[in-house]
Amino acid sequence: MRNSLNLNPDSVFYYFEQLAKIPHGSGNTKAVSDYCVNFAKEHNLECHQDAVNNVIIIKEATKGYENSDPIIIQGHLDMVCEKEENCNIDFMKDGLDLYVDGDFLKARGTTLGGDDGIAVAFGLALLEDEELEHPRLEMIFTIDEETGMDGVQAIDLSPIKGHKMLNIDSDEEGVFLTSCAGGCEVNISLPVDRVKTKGTALKITVNGLQGGHSGAEIHKERGNANKLLARVMKRLLDDVDYALYELEGGLKHNAITRMATCSVIVDDKDVDLVKKLVAEVESDLKKEYSTTDKDVFVSVENLGGKELDVIDRTSLTKIVFLLREMPYGVQAMSADIEGLVETSLNLGISKLEKDAYECEISVRSSVASRKAETVERVIFLGEFIGAKAEATGSYPAWEYKKDSTVRTDIANLYKELFNEEPVVTAIHAGLECGYFDQMIPGLDAVSFGPKNLDIHTPQERLSISSTEKYYKLLKEFLKRAK
Ligand SMILES: [Zn+2]
Repeated sequence: MRNSLNLNPDSVFYYFEQLAKIPHGSGNTKAVSDYCVNFAKEHNLECHQDAVNNVIIIKEATKGYENSDPIIIQGHLDMVCEKEENCNIDFMKDGLDLYVDGDFLKARGTTLGGDDGIAVAFGLALLEDEELEHPRLEMIFTIDEETGMDGVQAIDLSPIKGHKMLNIDSDEEGVFLTSCAGGCEVNISLPVDRVKTKGTALKITVNGLQGGHSGAEIHKERGNANKLLARVMKRLLDDVDYALYELEGGLKHNAITRMATCSVIVDDKDVDLVKKLVAEVESDLKKEYSTTDKDVFVSVENLGGKELDVIDRTSLTKIVFLLREMPYGVQAMSADIEGLVETSLNLGISKLEKDAYECEISVRSSVASRKAETVERVIFLGEFIGAKAEATGSYPAWEYKKDSTVRTDIANLYKELFNEEPVVTAIHAGLECGYFDQMIPGLDAVSFGPKNLDIHTPQERLSISSTEKYYKLLKEFLKRAK
């Protein structure tokens, strides 16, 4: 065995292990990209590395496959770097500490990078296999998929002749994806003035929510702390003369916000009234969210008498209006694919800075015009209260195509080999396929991959048996692609 973990398929886990030794978080992919280039040189394969370090490796067809359509196999080189609090690994210079737990490969204290190291490991293992029969193979390994798909946006596809693509960046066993959402972020910034005010300072916190991924879990109707805190703030606005000096919720635009806080100054006499009103809203929330977020709570902490720089009442009203009226969650379900969210949005980050209030909303849709329409609504809402609002980081949807040979062939083959029913569906999150679909005319693509659980968290774990299955699937697919 070449891999030190004694796992099958040996070559796949050998390359996975080599990749794990090289730090390769998003933005730090030069070394892992060079590793792939050196691999190509050692194996006498045509290789292209561009200025941002995307890599394309080509292997010509084996005998008898010269006239078959080339097959593109695609994945990304970068990984999300998350670690447990007590973990000492430095993602800029240390490799990962791999270990086996039952059927799963894991990394001690950190993300594993199965997303998307397994695509690269599959690719290199297929390229080095001299027994394998296959059409012309075109491997595309991109950088920085996880932080805005910067690699694919800069890639030069001139060496690519194929228009059939297998994207190996999905993680549910037996699931074959046919389309994904496009998206963008809208940033809203409202200038505010501050004045000094004296009184009792209270910190109000909405917490205990489940959160989750704003694409994959938006249909679960979980509460967003920014939206729930706005409800509390509006309730107070009706009955209490309060002034705001701090407001904060969320760190990522693509995560459903789990906690949000605001700090206010009130007259001493209103402290009990605030507590009473907050308790009323909390009681409603506990009932409404008893299934999705059973641990939700709203707390009030008395910080004592203070004199602080607060924002004026008009700005406060505008912020509460914006947060209350901003649409959130599922806006439309797909009419074509049952159970698929078509359009949604998430107010992921909300923060009051010294001179401005700022928030960030993530918009997703599998229909380009619906995405544009939703962005327009959000921007209009921001501009209506006098804020600056603009969309950034737009990425295209990969729209559903009725006819796809690669999708049909791979799903049928999966059933034939493993006697399990494949699930052909779509996701409400982004994949690089949207960009490739724009760049390769007539692209026929499908996205899939072996079972990899809790991605983007230190609990990430890749199923060893599923990896073995998918390697077999890939080899057989290539053999039959004559
Ligand atoms: Zn990925």
